[in-house]
Amino acid sequence: MTSNRFCVFCGNPPEKKNREHILPQWLLELTGDPKRVVNFGTNFKDGSTVKFDWLNFCVPACESCNSEYSKLEGRAKSYVLTLLDRGALNSIEYIDFMDWMDKVRVGLWIAYHFIQGNPTNIQPSFHIKTRIGQKDRMIAIYPLEGDGVGLNALGTESLIFHSQPSCMGLRINNILIINMSSDFLFSARCGFPFPKSCFTMLDGENPYMMHTSDFSITRKIKHPLIRKNIIKPSIHLYQPILGKSEDKRFQSGFVGDYSSFDAYLAKHTLPPYPSGKGILYFQHLDRVEPIYDINQSIEFENCTGIHSKPMYRIVQQIYEFQNFLYKQEKFLAENRELELNHAKRTKLLLKWNNNVIAHYSGMRNV
Ligand SMILES: [Zn+2]
Repeated sequence: MTSNRFCVFCGNPPEKKNREHILPQWLLELTGDPKRVVNFGTNFKDGSTVKFDWLNFCVPACESCNSEYSKLEGRAKSYVLTLLDRGALNSIEYIDFMDWMDKVRVGLWIAYHFIQGNPTNIQPSFHIKTRIGQKDRMIAIYPLEGDGVGLNALGTESLIFHSQPSCMGLRINNILIINMSSDFLFSARCGFPFPKSCFTMLDGENPYMMHTSDFSITRKIKHPLIRKNIIKPSIHLYQPILGKSEDKRFQSGFVGDYSSFDAYLAKHTLPPYPSGKGILYFQHLDRVEPIYDINQSIEFENCTGIHSKPMYRIVQQIYEFQNFLYKQEKFLAENRELELNHAKRTKLLLKWNNNVIAHYSGMRNV
C-alpha cells in the first residue's frame, strides 16, 4: 500500500492534495519540541525500528475534508487544556471530545499501516468519516503525577490494533486517556437493543461483514457496564450509539429498535428523537449514573490512595482490554480451512499482546 492512495477521512483519492497531521500541531507544541523524533515501534516487514518526528507524521487528505475537521481540532484543544488543569466539561463537550478520540484512533490505525508495512495484510475497510460517532464508545481519563511533558500513543503498535482498532491509550502530559469503541460493546448493559447472535463471516458474499440477528432490549442498566476490572479513572464515561438501518423492521431507523417510539430510548438518547446517540453514563465504583442533564458539569474526580496506580499499570491494561475485546469477536467461514487459519492467527495476535502484558506485569514500582 502506498501512502498516497486515499484520503484518510473519506477514502477517495485525495482531490487537491493535502496532508493531514494525525496528531495535530497544537498537540505537538503542547507536549514538547514539535520537531522531536519519537520511536514508533517496529516495521514488521524488515524488523527495523521506525523513528519518526511527529511533525512529519502526515497522511494524505483532501483539502475539503481537512478543513471540515479543523474546527473539531480547535475545540479539542480547549478540552485538552481544561483536562490538564483538572477542570470540568459537560456531556456535550465530552461527546465532542470522544469524536476527536475516534478521529485520532482511526487516523493512527491507518497511519500505522503505512509505517509498519501492513503486517496483518488488512485493507482498511473504513476511514475516519465512517467511524466517528458510529459505535458504542467509552473514555477513561487518568491523572498522572508530576509535571511530565510528553505525548504517547499506547497500544497502537500491537498486531491486535492492526486488525481491530478498538482500544488505545493517549498520554498527553499529565493525563492518560483510554478509549474503546466497537459494535454493541455495552449496549445491552445500558438497556439498549443488542443482538443475541453476532458473528463475522470471513468468506461468502460479503467477506468480513458482521451478521447480527435476534435483537432484544431490557431497558435496564446493569453495573458494571463492561464486565472486566478496570483501574479507577477520574473520568469514566460510556456512550451507547445505535447504528442507522434501512431495514423496515427497525421502525425508528436504527439497528435493533423494532418500535417507532421507545420511551426508554427517548429518555436515554440525545435530542431530537430519534438521534440514535446515547446520553453519557458515568461508571462509578459502585453504580452506573446516566447523565440526563446534558449541560451539567462533569467534575474531574480525585484518584488517590489505593486508586492511584503507576503509569505502566494503566498501559498494561490497554493491552489486556485489546485481548478482551478481540476474544469477544466470533469469526466463521464456509471454508473450514479459512476458519482454522483465522483461529491460528488469533492465537498469534493474543500471544503478541500477552508478551507485552508479561513485560509490564514484571515491573515493580520503578
Ligand atoms: Zn477526503
